[in-house]
Amino acid sequence: MGDTAEISRATRPVRRLDDRLIDKIAAGEVVERPASVVKELVENALDAGARSIDIAIEAAGVGLIRIADDGHGIAADDLPLAVSRHCTSKLSDAAGLSAILTMGFRGEALPSIGAVGRLAITSRHREADGAWRIAVDGGRTAPPEPAGRGVGTTVEVRDLFHATPARLKFLKAERTETAAISDTVKRLALSAPGVGFTLVMNGRTTEYPPGSTAERARQVLGPEFAEEAIALAAEREGIRITGHLGLPTSGRASSQHAYAFVNGRVVRDRQITQAIRAGYQDVMARDRHPVAVVFIEIDPAAVDVNVHPAKADVRFRDTQAVRGLIVSSIRRHLAEAAPRASRGISNAALAALSQRPAPAAPAASSTEADPELGFDEEVAAWRSPTPKKRESGGGSARFSLPPGARAFMRSQPAPARPEPAAPAPGGATAPGGTMDEAGDEADHPLGAAVAQVHGNYILAQTEAGIVLVDQHAAHERIVYEALKEAAASRTPASQGLLIPEVIELAADDVGALEAHADTFAAFGLVLEAFGPGAVVVRETPAALGNFDVPRLVKELADEIGEWGEAMALEARLNHVAATMACHGSVRAGRALRPEEMNALLRQIETTPAAGQCNHGRPTFVTLSLDEIEKLFERR
Ligand code: ADP
Ligand code: MG
Repeated sequence: MGDTAEISRATRPVRRLDDRLIDKIAAGEVVERPASVVKELVENALDAGARSIDIAIEAAGVGLIRIADDGHGIAADDLPLAVSRHCTSKLSDAAGLSAILTMGFRGEALPSIGAVGRLAITSRHREADGAWRIAVDGGRTAPPEPAGRGVGTTVEVRDLFHATPARLKFLKAERTETAAISDTVKRLALSAPGVGFTLVMNGRTTEYPPGSTAERARQVLGPEFAEEAIALAAEREGIRITGHLGLPTSGRASSQHAYAFVNGRVVRDRQITQAIRAGYQDVMARDRHPVAVVFIEIDPAAVDVNVHPAKADVRFRDTQAVRGLIVSSIRRHLAEAAPRASRGISNAALAALSQRPAPAAPAASSTEADPELGFDEEVAAWRSPTPKKRESGGGSARFSLPPGARAFMRSQPAPARPEPAAPAPGGATAPGGTMDEAGDEADHPLGAAVAQVHGNYILAQTEAGIVLVDQHAAHERIVYEALKEAAASRTPASQGLLIPEVIELAADDVGALEAHADTFAAFGLVLEAFGPGAVVVRETPAALGNFDVPRLVKELADEIGEWGEAMALEARLNHVAATMACHGSVRAGRALRPEEMNALLRQIETTPAAGQCNHGRPTFVTLSLDEIEKLFERR
């Protein structure tokens, strides 16, 4: 009968699961892949106060994972406990759970690992005379035996997942697992710069000697990152954020390079990663991701790390406050840092080109979008930092001249600055050269335009060297910031079209454009539906000048499709501003008059984040006299 099975299933008695089965089930969550074993074991070593941790990996961790530390060790009596479920030395009562300071606390890692691999622990407690070894295989624990080693613990895992062939089958290629292990070790190393790490994997040894946070960032992320990175430090309402921000121009194709830590714990929390990315949103292309190291310190009671067995996710009591501080502090630091472009963008010859001398950065004031605000308020709140007007003769933008450069300038008459001619009768001075047209170059870090090269590059002479500007990229940034200003002022400058432009589109596109007419109007683009198959554009943003209106409108219609329901207004506004800026900018290839070139240079100097266009590409590079001399082997 069909019912028999039902009945017998329903009448089966409730039974406690066998401990070994529980371990296997839990192992599925704690030890997903070899890298998670590495993480658990290194965290145990850190919890034990290790100053030095040696990691050896064979066959992507499936063959062998061995972690040796010089921490306080485990007493012989405690060894059997350490490998049994829910035994921990780190948490004694529920009160402790709300303010966890150690990495581990669940007492799950060792038994889980012992359930799916061959585990052996050799440890000597700091107060013991000798070391002891305990082995667990397929969940069966053998009694401890005497062994030899100094104070500290060595944990060895062989044949990981041999007990769970299904898991073994689902592991990715060896190369992927190896990469995951090295990423895990990098994160752990960043979390504990005072601890020395050695990783031996595939015959390669990577050393992270103990040092400061900055030194560790250099070891892990490379000297280029360390030299360029912008230091991050912010504090609000008991939340402290510190770290290092990679330049927007050194963005990467994956989100893997945002390293986040909460109270010293490695976290891989999507909300935090997204907040970091949102901080860069304005200065980075949509498909790029920042390289950044971000440490968050917060009252342990205000954060829950017990969300998932792997302890990589966190829940904050006040998520908005944490997110807000991450986004706004990153934005402010990026805007305040002098416009610079990554050196990594250039090849060996361009390595000499940098973006010093940088215009003094305008003060930034970025505001987080607030869900309580109406459309107008939110648009007003969403705005770019207001550039401070540079006072002429104020000398606020000083060059940092490379040593010797000033002397060089004095000894060589600058070709573009002709010796002042004898005063003409009546006290009038002779017409100046290019430099004089641009005024005192000390006020103008980007100097005076000398020429336009290949239709797109402005060559300018500065006191300290030369600057090469990508006119399209630079102008795009300026237009972008102008659009944001216009939107924020709530009275966007628009120009009425003499003859309204009617653009034929698919009915869906007309509907979508009409639904977002408010967003476009915030920038001065006024459009409405014109029957079911067209829109009519009556006004366009003044900042865009003359441009191909139908092309922009069609592109905007395409983009709305990408937005989705959930996209915040702030993100939509950025998106639209970026698209408009691209359409309204001086094209590469357009010849510019000297006044136009100089005007562009002056605009770059006063525009926030002008060091890169809104795709994150640099807008200008500089070559100091010092560097020019090096190129010509004069020094
Ligand atoms: P948890 O870290 O959550 O306490 P684990 O299963 O990872 O659970 O470890 C169980 C216990 O074993 C720890 O509480 C600790 O007392 C001990 N232990 C594990 N690894 C080490 C180590 N490397 N040094 C000292 N003690 C260790
Ligand atoms: Mg642990």
